[in-house]
Amino acid sequence: MAVALVCPNLQCRTLLRVPDKARGKRVRCPECGGVLIVPKNAPREGTSRGQASPATDVSP
Ligand SMILES: [Zn+2]
Repeated sequence: MAVALVCPNLQCRTLLRVPDKARGKRVRCPECGGVLIVPKNAPREGTSRGQASPATDVSP
C-alpha cells in the first residue's frame, strides 16, 4: 500500500507516491528536489477516486 501526497511546492505540485512505511519521514521530490515530510495520517492512494487502479504497485 502506498501513500499519495502532493508536493507542497506551488511551482511543482507533483503527485508523489511513497510507501506506507515512509509515514512521518522525509522524502525528496524527484521533480523539484524539495524535501517534504509524509504526514502520518496521510490518506492512502486509491481512496475516493473512481479510477480503476491496478492491484499491483509496480513502476515501469
Ligand atoms: Zn516537488
